[in-house]
Amino acid sequence: MPYTIGHENAGWVHAVGSAVTNVSEGDKVIVHPLVTRGLCRACRAGDDVHCENNLFPAMTRPAATAST
Ligand SMILES: [Zn+2]
Repeated sequence: MPYTIGHENAGWVHAVGSAVTNVSEGDKVIVHPLVTRGLCRACRAGDDVHCENNLFPAMTRPAATAST
C-alpha cells in the first residue's frame, strides 16, 4: 500500500540515500506531522506546535503520502 495512514506513525529506517545524514538503517523513527518553518517566536522557543505558519498535511492541504 503506498500510504501511511494516520499521523502518529512510527517504524524503522529500512534504507537511506547517499545524501541522508541524520538517520541510519535500523534507526527507530517517528513522523512529526506538523510542518513548520522554524522562524517564528514559537519555533525558536522549541514550541513548533504553536508555529504561526504551520502546515498539517491532509488537514490544511490535500493528503500526504509516504511511499514504502
Ligand atoms: Zn514557526
